[in-house]
Amino acid sequence: GSLLAAHGLHKSYGSNSALDGASFSVHPGEVVAVMGPSGSGKSTLLHCLAGIITPDAGTVTYGGRELSTMSDAERSALRRTDFGFVFQFGRLVPELTGVENVALPLRLNGVKRREAERTALEWMRRLEVEDLAAQRPGEMSGGQGQRMAVARALVASPKVVFADEPTGALDSLNGERVMELLTESARTAGTAVVLVTHEARVAAYSDRDVAVRDGRCRDLAYAV
Ligand code: ADP
Ligand code: ADP
Repeated sequence: GSLLAAHGLHKSYGSNSALDGASFSVHPGEVVAVMGPSGSGKSTLLHCLAGIITPDAGTVTYGGRELSTMSDAERSALRRTDFGFVFQFGRLVPELTGVENVALPLRLNGVKRREAERTALEWMRRLEVEDLAAQRPGEMSGGQGQRMAVARALVASPKVVFADEPTGALDSLNGERVMELLTESARTAGTAVVLVTHEARVAAYSDRDVAVRDGRCRDLAYAV
């Protein structure tokens, strides 16, 4: 069954409707690409799925539990233990070094510094940013920061990874590397991957594509 499912989501900002009855689901180990024009509601959908924002109406169910029945503390804990995030442009913590940024999800889950940083460095090696362990985000290029953010999203073995344009700042080789790591997590660890993208080369890695338009979702079917 679905690991994460949304039914009939509505969300408005004032008189501006961002979601208008959006439904969505993802299975363990499935890679879903969410596509659609700017302003169609993709980010709002992702933030509702992750429990970062609460929809005005509709339900989000994770592992059989409705997010709206949880306390804020429970939702935060769930984000920390089960979800990984790659936000647009990385969004690393500027005060922390590369390795401290990548280790952060493990540290927040109570892993000791030495072990957290060892695991962080393994992921950084896979993304070829281990040389930037001691640098701060301000000293990294956009692409380096984005790869660092992907390492951070995967470091704590999340059940679901949410990625908003994860390859936006990357050249094609690094974009492929990022998509290979995300799909490998899906295949080997059963990670569900929900990614927002405009890029056909990214959608090429997905199991399923969902089009968002005017705050609603529909599965894209391709003729074979
Ligand atoms: P997308 O990610 O597809 O670009 P968004 O979910 O960011 O779409 O936005 C959907 C609609 O909701 C847009 O019209 C956008 O302007 C509006 N919107 C999103 N976030 C906010 C916000 N915090 N305040 C006001 N309007 C917002
Ligand atoms: P967009 O992709 O449309 O530019 P953003 O990714 O910039 O949207 O973020 C949309 C909203 O989500 C913002 O209002 C931001 O405050 C909120 N947000 C982003 N990341 C987090 C987070 N880690 N925790 C809580 N709120 C967040």
